[in-house]
Amino acid sequence: MKTKKSKLDLSSIRTVSLLYFIIFAVFLLLLVWFLQSFLINNYYEEMRISEIRNSARMLENKYRLSDEAFETAALDISKNSGVYIRVSSTDGVNSYNFASGMPPSSIGYDYEIAAADSKLKSSDLNSVSMTTKEDDSDLYTLVSASYLNPESKDEVLYLVAPLYPVRSTVQILRSQFKLITIFALVVAVILALYLSRRLSGPIDNITKSAVELSKGNFNVKFNGGMFTETNELARTLNTASYEMQRSESYQKDLIANVTHDLKTPLTMIKSYAEMIDDLSGDDPKKRKEHLGVIISEADRLNKLVSDMLAMSRLQSGSIIMDKSKFNIVSAAEEVFSTYKYLSDQEGYKIKFTKPKATYVYGDVDKIKQVMINFISNAIKYSEDDKNIEISLKRAFSGKTIRFSVLDHGIGIPSDEIGHVWDRYYRTSANHKQSVEGSGLGLSIVKGILSLHNANYGVNSKEGEGSEFWFEMDVVKK
Ligand code: ADP
Repeated sequence: MKTKKSKLDLSSIRTVSLLYFIIFAVFLLLLVWFLQSFLINNYYEEMRISEIRNSARMLENKYRLSDEAFETAALDISKNSGVYIRVSSTDGVNSYNFASGMPPSSIGYDYEIAAADSKLKSSDLNSVSMTTKEDDSDLYTLVSASYLNPESKDEVLYLVAPLYPVRSTVQILRSQFKLITIFALVVAVILALYLSRRLSGPIDNITKSAVELSKGNFNVKFNGGMFTETNELARTLNTASYEMQRSESYQKDLIANVTHDLKTPLTMIKSYAEMIDDLSGDDPKKRKEHLGVIISEADRLNKLVSDMLAMSRLQSGSIIMDKSKFNIVSAAEEVFSTYKYLSDQEGYKIKFTKPKATYVYGDVDKIKQVMINFISNAIKYSEDDKNIEISLKRAFSGKTIRFSVLDHGIGIPSDEIGHVWDRYYRTSANHKQSVEGSGLGLSIVKGILSLHNANYGVNSKEGEGSEFWFEMDVVKK
């Protein structure tokens, strides 16, 4: 990283923004320079021509209004725009000059006026304008001549405006331009450096935090600085790091859970086998009892390994769904019947409410597995109140059917309720109970229900009980 910094990195934010700012400044300067050098002459002339034309039109209007109005306006224009104004009548009477603010040498403009006059007289138009230049001078002059009374053509209004050479002005502008160039480049560089620092600062921070994170430090916080985008990035990375932390703690839990869950039945199997070997081998009654324990522990082991296998298949996406239309009511009845012995032997009161035959589309065995999981959990986490309510109900005016299992057991703490569907997650309430389980059941359920596009959920209150449910679309028989 250090070697990169010492070289000029053409793709770094700093260099790129510096480059763009300089290009922008140079472009602007070139534009200004071009306008000054090539267009200023034309601009000036055109501006002057339109100024003279407008003034002439205004004066014609004032003349029609009253003599005073005309005089005031003429004096005003002459003073403010440096325009020489003359009105002359064809018979030589009624001639005025307005030349305030004009250099004394220029008073008269007889040559220019004569030129415009002959142009006006020889044309059919009521007004003409032209640029003239006396042979011995290099000063161009703009002249306009127009009849004040277009009908009688007895009075002519002349406006004369010298076109001062703009060269000197351009020279002044050019020397200013050098200053502006230096100033603009300095400002562009400062702005670019400032902006790039503001931009790359948070990115550098985020990179540093990411390096920390990659070393396994999950407590690192990402700071996005003042920009919305970098803030958004920092927030996303914070979430990612939180998720990574969680997933790491799951992995740890997994190893702890799995080793514990595998070890307990194995220890039991070993010790009961030893007991048979040493003590009960000859006593058929004891032997049967001990073998019973070995068989049930082996079953548990088998179930655990099957769950792990199912989970890994779900995860890898290699699980095969055998979907067809089936009657979900009879599927639930079959599941319910397997739990009947519990009511008889262990005092559970399991109620089952069901509608008439209802068909859904899915993998019947997998859906049964989901039902079994909900019911087994309700039994496992029931404690003293052994009332369990299983129900199948039509919802959304018969479009869907909802399967739910309600218990009055230990419940789930509200801050953990979102995690029960996670792999190997077992709630803190449950840890106290030392109930056996892998924490895989509900994540398998989640995987199966997701593959059926079914909605599912849980309502629960710690100490009061839980209700787990899922919903499937009803199909025609
Ligand atoms: P387990 O094998 O541990 O039961 P599950 O994935 O089936 O695994 O359930 C995950 C966790 O959710 C359980 O460990 C338990 O803490 C909690 N849980 C599930 N069902 C219930 C319930 N009916 N009442 C209270 N807690 C439950």
